[in-house]
Amino acid sequence: MEIFSPVHKVVFSELQQAQIELYIKRDDLIHPFVSGNKWRKLKYHLRAMKEAHKTKLVTFGGAFSNHLLATAVAGAIFGIKTIGIVRGEEVQNDTLFLCQLHGMELQFADRESYRDKEYLFEQKFGEDNATYYVGEGGSGILGIEGCKEIINEISEPYHHIFCACGTGTTAIGLAQGLENKASDMKLNVVPVLKDSAFLQQEIQKQVQQPFNFHPQYHFGGYAKTTVELLHFVRYFTQKTGIMLDPIYTGKAMFALFDLVKQGYFAPQSSILFLHTGGLIGTLGMKARFD
Ligand SMILES: *Cc1c(COP(=O)(O)O)cnc(C)c1O
Repeated sequence: MEIFSPVHKVVFSELQQAQIELYIKRDDLIHPFVSGNKWRKLKYHLRAMKEAHKTKLVTFGGAFSNHLLATAVAGAIFGIKTIGIVRGEEVQNDTLFLCQLHGMELQFADRESYRDKEYLFEQKFGEDNATYYVGEGGSGILGIEGCKEIINEISEPYHHIFCACGTGTTAIGLAQGLENKASDMKLNVVPVLKDSAFLQQEIQKQVQQPFNFHPQYHFGGYAKTTVELLHFVRYFTQKTGIMLDPIYTGKAMFALFDLVKQGYFAPQSSILFLHTGGLIGTLGMKARFD
């Protein structure tokens, strides 16, 4: 799979006034339904799976999981059987519909048994040698490896790079990629969940350089939202034709604009925002847009 992820400049008067240039790396264009970073996180898992002669990929996610959908699509493209273990009681929504459309088999697991995923995998598939385990969200060392490659695709010397953060895998990949390249670009990480101090520590353990961590833009927690955030998502989308989702990229872009307003960045700074995709997540929240 070749990766199509160009960089686009966007213009906003409030950024121009602060003398900030904003560029977006369009990982959302890698695939229409697949979150860009989920795609990158799967790449080395698929390779490892092939090398180990496994034919069935088993992975985990919530009912709105971008990772499940990315896995389902990757399975269809590469001819791999995919099984998605979904947290909670049986439901139906756009994400799960698209998963099944791409051939993923869904199995629902109650919240209690979902907690210990390795045990659950062992119980369900321990006897089946053809199965390959991928953790929730495609996290872990192979996921990091795929995200490092984002940095190799960047040729301009931006001052800052921004990303939304769930498990921290993408942030670690970016940080390690910057280190490998001895780049001066400063990494800015916006966690989308509350109580994210552990994430900051987790990332720092795996990278040498300090990075900017902005924990104040979670809007109440994971998948929580506010009218202000939804208005911002709509505003940004209508001004650019580039959609954001309220779960990840909307929060990270809101943070960027708010930090600009506070004078956080030196004038003449250029910022590259990594658009990690996640657009189907917007459909899951359509009822909340008034
Ligand atoms: C999963 C996801 C993230 C979070 O990536 P992590 O590597 O888990 O931190 C960010 N943006 C989108 C759109 C996602 O789907």
